[in-house]
Amino acid sequence: MDDDFETRRRLIGQRKSIDDSIRGWADVLALWRLCREAKCMRAHACCGEPRRCFRAHVPLLPESLQVWFDTISAAQQDGASFDEAIEDTLGTIAEDALQRWHIAIAMSDLAARSVTSEDTSNHV
Ligand SMILES: [Zn+2]
Repeated sequence: MDDDFETRRRLIGQRKSIDDSIRGWADVLALWRLCREAKCMRAHACCGEPRRCFRAHVPLLPESLQVWFDTISAAQQDGASFDEAIEDTLGTIAEDALQRWHIAIAMSDLAARSVTSEDTSNHV
């Protein structure tokens, strides 16, 4: 096993863990909701290439959520872990923005479901 191989293996490992944390962010932000990939929609999670998906969908989030995103980024830049960064948002307008976003998604799912059941059955 030469040094090159070791370096490459380490870089791939790093890349993978960055991809995993990007996927974690994407899931917290429910970016799958904005994705047009059928498999992401079905899985309620990002199933594609996480970086590409993240870059494409973050700008589509409501403006209030950009605050959440900025708060997390700032905390992480200060050396906080992902969990610590999330904790930093608790009780702030950033947490409120994220909650509203998840409520909006839940409402939209509910509305879609009631339209479907009206179409297919006579009783609710
Ligand atoms: Zn996707």
